[in-house]
Amino acid sequence: MRKVSGGAHGGGGGRARRRSGERDPPQASQTRPLLRRRLLWPPLPLPLLLVALAVGTGLYVAWAPGGGGGERGGGEKKGGGVGEAETYRRRSSGGSPERQSQSRQARSLPEAHLRALLEQLDPQRLWGKYLQPLLVERPPGSPGNLKVRKFLEDELRALGAGWQVEVDAFSAPTPLGPVAFANVVATLSPEAPYRLTLACHLDSKLFPPGAPPFLGATDSAVPCALLLELVRALDPQLGRFKDRGAPVTLQLLFLDGEEALKEWGPEDSLYGARHLAQRMEQTPHDFGISEIQAIEIFVLLDLLGARDPIIKSHFPNTAPWFRQLSSIEKRLHRLGLLASHPWEVMYFQPGPPYGAVDDDHTPFLRRGVPILHLIPTPFPAVWHTPADTEANLHPPTVHNLSRILAIFLAEYLGLL
Ligand SMILES: [Zn+2]
Repeated sequence: MRKVSGGAHGGGGGRARRRSGERDPPQASQTRPLLRRRLLWPPLPLPLLLVALAVGTGLYVAWAPGGGGGERGGGEKKGGGVGEAETYRRRSSGGSPERQSQSRQARSLPEAHLRALLEQLDPQRLWGKYLQPLLVERPPGSPGNLKVRKFLEDELRALGAGWQVEVDAFSAPTPLGPVAFANVVATLSPEAPYRLTLACHLDSKLFPPGAPPFLGATDSAVPCALLLELVRALDPQLGRFKDRGAPVTLQLLFLDGEEALKEWGPEDSLYGARHLAQRMEQTPHDFGISEIQAIEIFVLLDLLGARDPIIKSHFPNTAPWFRQLSSIEKRLHRLGLLASHPWEVMYFQPGPPYGAVDDDHTPFLRRGVPILHLIPTPFPAVWHTPADTEANLHPPTVHNLSRILAIFLAEYLGLL
């Protein structure tokens, strides 16, 4: 993972050293291991935060055409209207005429369409076909890493919608010497002007010889399996969507070398993301923009799979899309379509994040890409321990997330 200072496993039973500028993340229970992560900015004092939120909300309402608009999806509105998130996207979209004139709108799916779409998700396929092959040790350059990468390539190439699948292979210096890395990049319609980009990391953390096996079930086998299941389940719709030549397309990034090989730091982490962000920045796309500028939103999934993750919005410029996720969660709950989900909003919770988390989005964020960081805080209790295994996953949570994300994709892209 990201952000932790000091090898969480180097010694001391998973406890990392505290450095200045770091604070303890909130703990879900006293029994959880003590985690430290690097905060990129400290939490604001509560009164200051409330003032900032009030001012920010006021500015947003004043700025947004037609006023702020209420929360979407709270009721069962048939047909749905243009959402707050779409208003944001249109307002914030760049200068190309194609982008300004695009007619796609993030509408709430009618209930019948929503139910039909969810029927296409297959929990057994997610768990058996997609997750199991990922549950191997797969640090960069290892046989397991190569196997997983080939598996991802094969599955993506087998999809009927016809994805362009590329391998971004490179070698980089590391504290352990030069290591071979490879990202897998899948793009549905490479010629489309803009991309909704979903990302996760395919590598698992390397621990010293003799350490117990680390399979990284939440970190990040489940996020990778979720992405595969989403594009597999939506394959028929994505194929028709591609044929329509929409101005936005879907892109998947399976990033290698997210984990530090020795100790987390700017030079020892995010190898794949740093390489790919730089490459995309230097690669012309269309309309005089680079590939990185073609990313409308970079949605990063990480550390998902444990029971009841608490996910917060980390960035104001993507907050409307975060609220859409929260609205979808609420809507599916009210329709009785989420399992082991006793409250309306459990995962995508309002309120400020505890602090920023350094992760694969960072090299993209630095280049101006809007980020939606779907990572639970606190981290799962099993984080960076040998207990991050299939046995400690919570299948209902995984399948609930797949349902929420499937509806999000359908509404964002206008698949139906
Ligand atoms: Zn990790």
